[in-house]
Amino acid sequence: MPFSSLGLRAELLRAIDAQGYDVPTPIQAQAIPTVLAGGDILAGAQTGTGKTAAFALPILQLLHGRPRTGRQPRALVLTPTRELAAQVEESVRTYGQFLPLRTAVIFGGVGIQPQVERLRVGVDLVVATPGRLLDHAGQGTIDLSRIEILVLDEADRMLDMGFIHDIRRVLKLLPTRRQNLLFSATYSAEIEQLATGILRSPTFIEVARRNDTADLVRQLAHPVDKTRKRELLSHLIHAGGWEQVLVFTRTKHGANRLSDQLANDGISSAAIHGNKSQSARTRALLGFKQGEVRALVATDIAARGLDIDRLPHVVNYELPNVPEDYVHRIGRTGRAGSEGTALSLVSPDEHKLLADIQRLLKRKIPLHTILGFEPLPAGAVPPDPEPVRFHRPRPATNARPQGPNPHRQGAPRQGRSGHGIRQAG
Ligand code: AMP
Repeated sequence: MPFSSLGLRAELLRAIDAQGYDVPTPIQAQAIPTVLAGGDILAGAQTGTGKTAAFALPILQLLHGRPRTGRQPRALVLTPTRELAAQVEESVRTYGQFLPLRTAVIFGGVGIQPQVERLRVGVDLVVATPGRLLDHAGQGTIDLSRIEILVLDEADRMLDMGFIHDIRRVLKLLPTRRQNLLFSATYSAEIEQLATGILRSPTFIEVARRNDTADLVRQLAHPVDKTRKRELLSHLIHAGGWEQVLVFTRTKHGANRLSDQLANDGISSAAIHGNKSQSARTRALLGFKQGEVRALVATDIAARGLDIDRLPHVVNYELPNVPEDYVHRIGRTGRAGSEGTALSLVSPDEHKLLADIQRLLKRKIPLHTILGFEPLPAGAVPPDPEPVRFHRPRPATNARPQGPNPHRQGAPRQGRSGHGIRQAG
């Protein structure tokens, strides 16, 4: 089915064409006509399914077709994270580039004044995280009484992050007569409750979960001792000549530490997590997209909604405690028709987590031990206080110029080459 059969205006089709999209994704094919007709939807869809365009395109069309009566926004998109808010707004601007509509993005961690000024000029659509939106509402710098369309994007994640009270507070500021679109990667009793309270005779749209369509994602698990994970990761990056890898850790502290260690191994790297300032996160993401940062180390929450195209490699440095997070993580690779690999470094204490994930996926993840990184039998003492390395020398073609790296701590460890074959002591 071509985009032109969905009832979208020429300006939007032109923008779609400029993006190089050939056909609508399943969620777009289902959602766009319903939203254009003014209906509510409840959509089960993850990042990577094209859900942003599924709501942004018809909303832009509806807004364009209705007269603007003041400076107040007429559509509101709520997202759980700053990154997602920024990316959604960027997408909306891209899709609406040939229409005279104005957008604003509102999130915390940055100065409020530029947002105030943007709102004062007048906008049609606002993308916001709940907390900062309420700040604006509290100080009277945003008037939500003219909102005609509300989108809750990644509603499950908003609930996970404890935004339910903020969401309810926002809802009280909106007109009761409005169109509502709720997107959630997972269903739960809480989502159902939220949906029942908000949506009016919604159309249910369910697109294949990432793990149902995961044929484009090659999944593998590498058994390895916890103490040698960093070394194995550096080995995989070097030996595979990976130019771009997203690495997941369980904690913010772990993300920082790993990023520093990778930098010490000569791999340009940055960490992205909730404790980083907005500008540091934006810088890290930009560096990653532009190829200056080779390894982006992220926590689950920070990585949600990151819009990074065609990511070839995702590594679970530590398995997540919640199996669903594994699905979100590997959803970052093999997107939009290109193949990717999702590798998990699994230490002996994580076998239960792996079993939980396999149960959720209803499939086995093949185990593949890397020569030289075999886990020691339980109770065995490592033969050398320094880990034994069996790396082959990195081919010269893989050598990358190493610019100054803000994450590098201290001097590179001279005399401890990671690439020569060493014998155990
Ligand atoms: P989303 O699920 O909204 O995060 O979108 C995932 C990715 O798919 C984004 O990088 C979009 O640019 C891309 N995308 C969205 N719609 C299409 C489409 N119809 N064809 C190809 N790529 C698309």
